[in-house]
Amino acid sequence: MTTATVSPFRFFDLVADEVERLSPTMIRVSFAGPALGSMESAGRDQRIKLFFPHPGQDAPVMPDDDGSDWYPAWQALDPAVRGIMRTYTTRTLTRDPDRLVVDFAVHGETGPGSRWALHAAPGDRLSTLAPIVAENVAYDFRPPAGTGWMLVTADETALPAVAGILAALPAGVPVRAWIEVADAGDRLELATAADAEVTWLVRGEDAPAPDALRAAELPGGTPYAWVAGESATVKAVRRHLVRERGIDRRAVTFTGYWRRGTTEDQLLAAAEPA
Ligand SMILES: Cc1cc2nc3c(=O)[nH]c(=O)nc-3n(C[C@H](O)[C@H](O)[C@H](O)COP(=O)(O)OP(=O)(O)OC[C@H]3O[C@@H](n4cnc5c(N)ncnc54)[C@H](O)[C@@H]3O)c2cc1C
Repeated sequence: MTTATVSPFRFFDLVADEVERLSPTMIRVSFAGPALGSMESAGRDQRIKLFFPHPGQDAPVMPDDDGSDWYPAWQALDPAVRGIMRTYTTRTLTRDPDRLVVDFAVHGETGPGSRWALHAAPGDRLSTLAPIVAENVAYDFRPPAGTGWMLVTADETALPAVAGILAALPAGVPVRAWIEVADAGDRLELATAADAEVTWLVRGEDAPAPDALRAAELPGGTPYAWVAGESATVKAVRRHLVRERGIDRRAVTFTGYWRRGTTEDQLLAAAEPA
């Protein structure tokens, strides 16, 4: 018997209530909202869509749709006016009071997401499309049965997801993680019960992730790999794991979180059928 995975999502209005500079690259924003009690999260690498206002708007313009048929409804709005959509990760979702926390890896004023986070202040408004059931299709960390150990590679954009993955793993699970960050100050404390060995790679000082992996001695046993970050790096890591290490490609989950020189709008447009 197979279990069907459902994907119910809906729009939520968000109001920033705390903004904290975690490190040179990471800004943590905690959000409150009128209906956050019905938001859910699978934890791990739970992805959500955030919608940002255009300059001059005090909140993103969103479709009337509640989120059940959200994509055509959002697409039908004028791109110069509708909320600007970007993909982020539920860092935490906690109760009493209901709070959604998102960690933003900032890269200057070059994109609306990064720009918003750099200037974020309590009271600022966004919208999100987020799950209303904990078991949903919008997370990818799914080790197959029989996995002996986990291999994780990420950059700072996927650091919130790695934090969620490590927090969700049970005691004793062997994990080897390589995390590339922009600055030595971006090496954050990662809470986990797993038996995790984290190697931080500071860009410009240490080897890039594919080279660090090439030089690494990996444990024996059956691995499951979760690879996320800049697209070209993700591809290079995957190629190494599958072609050079002989890891079963079905045991490698890989996701380009961003592509150098390309905005998320451009990635979305390229993925749509002509
Ligand atoms: C499933 C998923 C989960 C994600 N979770 C998070 C998260 O929790 N936190 C987070 O910060 N990001 C996360 N990202 C990455 C984020 O969606 C992208 O970095 C996105 O491009 C940011 O939007 P922007 O408006 O800042 O830049 P865009 O307008 O999309 O891009 C503008 C320019 O900035 C470049 N750029 C984008 N990101 C970076 C970067 N990190 N460093 C340098 N240049 C960059 C682009 O190549 C482009 O040239 C996630 C992505 C995915 C697919």
